Amino acid sequence: MSIVGRRLTTKLYQASAQKLCVLGALAAILTGLLAFSGCQPKSSLETVSGDVQVLIPKPDSSTKKYHLDIATLKGIKSLKEVRGEYVQFIYSPGGAEGTLVGGAPRARFSRNEKGVFLPLDLITTQMSAIYYHLQNLMDLNDLLGLNSLTRKPFQVGLEVKKPGLNNSFERNNAFYDGLSDSMLFLPNSTQDLALYLNAGVIAHEFFHSIFFKKVLGAVIQSSVKNGSGPRTMNDDHPANVFNLVWLRGVNEGLADFWGWAYTDDPDFMGLSLSQEIESRTLNVRSDEIGVHQRQIDIRNQVGWAARQGQRGERYISDFIYTIGTPHARFLKLMASLEEVGSSDEEQLKKVARSPVPAAAKQKWLEIVVSFLDDLARESLAKLEKEKPNEFLAGRLFQFVAQRAELSPVLNQKQCEYLIKYLEYDQTPIGTDDFGGAVAVAGREFTCQKSDEHGGFIVTSKMSERLQNHEAHRSKENLDKPVVDESKAIEGVRGVK
Ligand SMILES: [Zn+2]
Repeated sequence: MSIVGRRLTTKLYQASAQKLCVLGALAAILTGLLAFSGCQPKSSLETVSGDVQVLIPKPDSSTKKYHLDIATLKGIKSLKEVRGEYVQFIYSPGGAEGTLVGGAPRARFSRNEKGVFLPLDLITTQMSAIYYHLQNLMDLNDLLGLNSLTRKPFQVGLEVKKPGLNNSFERNNAFYDGLSDSMLFLPNSTQDLALYLNAGVIAHEFFHSIFFKKVLGAVIQSSVKNGSGPRTMNDDHPANVFNLVWLRGVNEGLADFWGWAYTDDPDFMGLSLSQEIESRTLNVRSDEIGVHQRQIDIRNQVGWAARQGQRGERYISDFIYTIGTPHARFLKLMASLEEVGSSDEEQLKKVARSPVPAAAKQKWLEIVVSFLDDLARESLAKLEKEKPNEFLAGRLFQFVAQRAELSPVLNQKQCEYLIKYLEYDQTPIGTDDFGGAVAVAGREFTCQKSDEHGGFIVTSKMSERLQNHEAHRSKENLDKPVVDESKAIEGVRGVK
């Protein structure tokens, strides 16, 4: 079993925001808190419960900068531990894999004359901010019909000790851990905004819990049940290895979309990972629309990494974001175009700056939830049994096109941009690393107004080039109004 193959499944259990946040920012926040006038002596925090007002750093919806603002923490049972209906904190948790064992941190607050509680140290600020955002994200889950997935109270580990290189502990990162169904924050040591104060990062990690419960849990369970264990490069069904890497990437991309939807800030990740502001922004340049990692790209990258050992595994851990980001940008573009319908560069810039209405966001969040159901249905076990060579790359774009046939999902501009993603998968690309000639079929796509339901739908037909190649095929295969790239590929692919 190759190292890459063995580690792929292990990696499924943990998904991270990769490197995040803040001593400098925290110091500034604390200075602000302590300078806040009118503080009264500490009250007995054990007796404070119910809905409690606290002062936390919150992102301003217009400037995206963080400033101190009042937040209501709902369902608090003990303010001394900032524990309540929504969240329970554990300080530097220990315990076996899959469990979080430890005590709660002790919070320190002052109460001002208006009854607002002011955090007096970093850990209390951290707990208050995380509680507030997770509470909002769980309420959002309720709105999206995902309440059965939410574990209340959600467990959060703070100051988590994760062994790193050279006998030291890792810092500046955040994880969702599927085994213990908890969110873990590592200590901070950077000057950027701490990950645990970044509302977008908290939303990103929270999405990983949704993806785990909707999709990955089923994938892992089925591989355990089959006794097949993790996929390897020598597997009879290598498509599953590539599909697992793609799933990890899509998990990151959709998580970034969740972070944007919650904060309305396309650059929320850059606030904490300043070195990644360009690579992780959700604003898409006009010349990047459509570009994403196709099946051939993923096959080549994974194939190369499999020959590099440990280095290859690290490479794939970065590569998954290259898979994910185009998905995040695609969804944000679609949501932004709900009410702005133009396509030139200036208009795109305007779209990038304008706040997106809540209803538009909710519509595309709901589309993501249906997409997760689609992925769960197409679990790897099922693919292995019924369609052993089917690749999932490109599936989100195909899914949106198929969905548009059922309900008025797309306006004209959205449809035109979607086509760019579908067309990109049709680019002829030659041979792959495994010696297979993967000439991708040329299907041509057009947008058609559907008077039936008032939206636009994607229709496709084989290109002339492919028609010549496939001349022996019967005419009834042509002009299918269905976007099913895998079917088109089957005809010309020389891969076993
Ligand atoms: Zn992540």
